[in-house]
Amino acid sequence: WSRSIVKPQEVEKYLDSQGQDFIDEQAIFRALEETRNPDPRTVRDILDKSRAIQTLTPRETAVLLNVEDPEMLEEMAQTGLEIKLKVYDNRIVTFAPLYMANHCVNSCSYCGFRRENTEMHRRHLTMEEIRREASALAGSFGHKRLVVVYGEHPLTDIDYLEESINAVYGVRVPTRRGHANIRRVNVNCAPLDITSLKRLREVGLGTYQVFQESYHRDTYRRVHGTKSLKADYRWRLYAMHRAQDAQVDDVGLGVLFGLYDWKFEVMGLLSHVRALESTDCGIGAHTISFPRLEPAHNAPLTRSSRYAVSDADFLKIITVLRLAVPYTGLICTARETRDIRNQAVLRGITQMDASTRIGLGAYSSGHQNDLGAIPSEQPAKGDQAGRDAYSQKEEEQQFLLGDPRTVEELVRDLASLGFISSFCTAGYRIGRRGERIMRLLRSCSEGNYCKLNAIITFREWLDDFATPETRKIGEALIQQELAGAKQRTPALHTKFLDYYKRTSEGARDLYV
Ligand code: SF4
Repeated sequence: WSRSIVKPQEVEKYLDSQGQDFIDEQAIFRALEETRNPDPRTVRDILDKSRAIQTLTPRETAVLLNVEDPEMLEEMAQTGLEIKLKVYDNRIVTFAPLYMANHCVNSCSYCGFRRENTEMHRRHLTMEEIRREASALAGSFGHKRLVVVYGEHPLTDIDYLEESINAVYGVRVPTRRGHANIRRVNVNCAPLDITSLKRLREVGLGTYQVFQESYHRDTYRRVHGTKSLKADYRWRLYAMHRAQDAQVDDVGLGVLFGLYDWKFEVMGLLSHVRALESTDCGIGAHTISFPRLEPAHNAPLTRSSRYAVSDADFLKIITVLRLAVPYTGLICTARETRDIRNQAVLRGITQMDASTRIGLGAYSSGHQNDLGAIPSEQPAKGDQAGRDAYSQKEEEQQFLLGDPRTVEELVRDLASLGFISSFCTAGYRIGRRGERIMRLLRSCSEGNYCKLNAIITFREWLDDFATPETRKIGEALIQQELAGAKQRTPALHTKFLDYYKRTSEGARDLYV
């Protein structure tokens, strides 16, 4: 089975004429060394380029990574937020992860699913269990967008991926005012070949996520061993090139911060984005994720790694990424604490998960009532009682969560920061994906559509799921947004008002 997975010809075709890939380690080290102690004028010139929504060069990115002056760092953070609002407006897209299996043939030293962990209780969800999970996510929590997560194993091969995605899309649940369903399924799985990627595209794959974990070759080898499937650095590195060849346009990159020097890894991400932009498709990353190393059951590597990233550096990573790839979505997950995620919002992230459970089957077995309202005393890292009560089961999950907020709590917190939660999934369904969405993002006109859809889907969520207290907060936010809608998009205003009114009357899944 494992020998049939990697297809060397689907790597070699992307290498340059010298047989090299796009991660030039020496050039990265040189850029970081030569840009130490940058002067403020150079930094401000780079900020102007970011404001023009242009991808930065590696050298420009290295300059920003080397800024240490607190006032200049604050100026960078402010510029990052300004760019986020310009490109994405004040929307935060909301989603949930759904773990499908914990089988894995690999040996990643930071992960509880590694094959050597014989204490892990292994299983994969049946189609019936998947439907129950999707029902809970859509019907109790009000989620519309998922990222489904798989290890790498013959039991969760491409047939299982296809069948499980179809099972999620097939679920439809009645709600107070209408019905609910999952409308976008993003996938986080092993690197696939082009044929398999085409099959996923056919069943409605949203964003295809494969995280490189580390762009540093020696580190990659050290944490993945030499005998696992994942040991093949380039097979993973070119997963997104193959995706673009399979017309899967929305691709999500990521690094597991804490494995190696974080500045190097940011440069690796930037190199990856630029390599994708320079292909025939010309499309960079749709999203970037930046998880930090967390304790995992029976995993040798923990946060005590010598490359552990401090909170201050973590926030700086977000700022630099926001400035280096101004049009790319940035995802900050519930691995991080509530406090860090609230700070990350003000640095320009665009997507957050909520009501997150990463235990297998945990959404349908663990929710407390039909609105998904969970007591605010949620489990925290290291809280054994909480883990047991809310499916923080180390022996079944990949890592432990840091932010247990429900969708309700997140909606309220975001509203207090001036942000609207968006449940919109319209873009890819009406062709606003890949090159087209990138063009809209770069010209800062994507927000014109997405903001309207954010308001419509927020209306849906308030009517179907919110408690009276949250609805009151949400109403105030919606009235404020409605007042600005006409000015923002006069051409779409009549259609928008019609859709908004029909949604208030119980119609569902309308979008402009
Ligand atoms: Fe498997 Fe992914 Fe865990 Fe590695 S990180 S052991 S590939 S599930």
